[in-house]
Amino acid sequence: MNTEILRTEPKSIDIAAQILKNDEIVAIPTETVYGLAGNGLSADAVKKIFKAKGRPNDNPLILHISSVDWLYRYAENVPDLALKLAEKFWPGPLTMIMSKKNIVPEETSGGLDTVAFRMPNNQWTLKLIEACDFPLAAPSANLSGLPSPTRAGYVYNDMKGKIPLIIDGGQCSYGLESTVIAFTENGVKILRPGGVTPEMLEQLCRVEIDKAVTEGLKDGDKALSPGMKYKHYSPKAEVFMVKCDDNDSFADFVNKNFDDYTIVLAKKAENIKAKTLPYGRTAKQEAEKLFTSLRKADEMGAKKIYVQAPNEEGIGLAVYNRLIRAAAFKVIEL
Ligand code: AMP
Ligand code: MG
Repeated sequence: MNTEILRTEPKSIDIAAQILKNDEIVAIPTETVYGLAGNGLSADAVKKIFKAKGRPNDNPLILHISSVDWLYRYAENVPDLALKLAEKFWPGPLTMIMSKKNIVPEETSGGLDTVAFRMPNNQWTLKLIEACDFPLAAPSANLSGLPSPTRAGYVYNDMKGKIPLIIDGGQCSYGLESTVIAFTENGVKILRPGGVTPEMLEQLCRVEIDKAVTEGLKDGDKALSPGMKYKHYSPKAEVFMVKCDDNDSFADFVNKNFDDYTIVLAKKAENIKAKTLPYGRTAKQEAEKLFTSLRKADEMGAKKIYVQAPNEEGIGLAVYNRLIRAAAFKVIEL
């Protein structure tokens, strides 16, 4: 199959809508990462998504919608709090899990009786969803296990020959996947941290954070978010998360331990003798750069990547959650 890349313009949206209406799949830009989209109501289309990614069947997909009203088409008992959160954070990087109606096939929900919803903040993708008039199931457009793609070229690397079309919307502004929440009796539980932070949610409701966010699941633990149980986001090189109090001790550690095949992601690169890649001084920048730099490190032939641990506050919690999985829980504490 030839994989075409088209820029965001009305003609491309028409072409993409046609392909999606035929139960084929298309890579789409969002503000978080690129998504691999298909008709979320079609078991056939959804099976193609799982196949192209090599994604385990029990890892459910998020339905991307263009209007809050659509919740009533596909969810049972929409909580009042969901409407309040949608008003504040949609379109944006917040995914909410609700009971599903039967119209949503089990292939989409990974066999669960719940389904996840999000309204992405990308005008072209919203237009595409409207043109389709069905929700787009869209996991990140990478091969399962690799870092999520933040630009069309990275989608092409993973999906060439497997999908007919990539819509190129440029670099993703957040660079990390959405925050995933489930509703509790009196608030929400964060299953996966993202751009909508615990602090932002706490303005509106009680917030719990699932322990799988920062820790690995032990044998016998049940994954509330099935995606959290898999090794994830990892480049080919071995990644280590390095926890330390200050930039100087990180630089000292790296300078003692690097070789020609080491790449470093540091908050402050000046004193580091090893090759470094863009990361950030703020959590927002780290989120934006993490996946892009992990992919670049592989392109440069890295065998080992040292990443300075983020501060776990605000969006830093999301960076921490992705990084510790990319590192397969290998943490060096200085
Ligand atoms: P991705 O689309 O690749 O960013 O991953 C979607 C994430 O949302 C995964 O971690 C899934 O496990 C999680 N997710 C989607 N639907 C549900 C659901 N119904 N219940 C729990 N987690 C979900
Ligand atoms: Mg993913």
